[in-house]
Amino acid sequence: MQEDSYRHKGMRKNMVEDLRNKGIKDENVLNAINNVPRHVFLDSSFLDFAYQDKAFPIGSGQTISQPFTVAFQTSLLEIKRNMKVLEIGTGSGYQACVLAEMGAKVFSIERQRKLYTKTKAFLAEFPYFIKTFLADGNKGLPTYGPFDRILITAAAPEIPQALIDQLKVGGIMVIPLCEHDDHQTMLRLTKQEDGTMKRETYGDFRFVPMLKNLGDD
Ligand code: SAH
Repeated sequence: MQEDSYRHKGMRKNMVEDLRNKGIKDENVLNAINNVPRHVFLDSSFLDFAYQDKAFPIGSGQTISQPFTVAFQTSLLEIKRNMKVLEIGTGSGYQACVLAEMGAKVFSIERQRKLYTKTKAFLAEFPYFIKTFLADGNKGLPTYGPFDRILITAAAPEIPQALIDQLKVGGIMVIPLCEHDDHQTMLRLTKQEDGTMKRETYGDFRFVPMLKNLGDD
């Protein structure tokens, strides 16, 4: 793994201040982002991009989410230590590490084999509880649920019923839902005693699409 020097730490601190100025208030989230070296998720030649508040290509047509988006989604989840969290869209593994740094037990699903294989090997270098799965996230992980939290990090055309079923009562799901052609509405869904979902709507975001089935497209 690439080193994490004083220079990297300094750049990360500035990024965290930038996120704070953009309205991220949860100190646990900001701390976790300060502690996870984002540059090691990118090729070393892209260091200058690692600590800008931008999404960045990670190969296989996919992106590592923008730091603000990671911070925003993670804040909505209200993570507590030892919670079981299901993530759809492992991608680079960065978001999974931020969740795990906050003490969550992370179960993360990726549909692209190449990305899954690369990221699984890479994540083994971290001391975190993160289990990765090559599967279609629309179906969730019935044998590992129910989950305290579910996070979808791709643009979802609908709210998958399997994921609602795998969420605990009182549990929170954060999902960027496609309600417009070119962007998504961020939803926070909280499962009620009677099984219905309380729905809160946040701003507009742009994600790569959540696709069905496995593939390398
Ligand atoms: N969380 C990632 C960013 C993910 S980008 C990170 O921190 O880097 C979205 C990811 O979702 C992509 O890797 C894409 O391949 C994956 N994806 C898309 N549809 C999926 C599905 N149905 N099941 C699982 N993963 C999916």
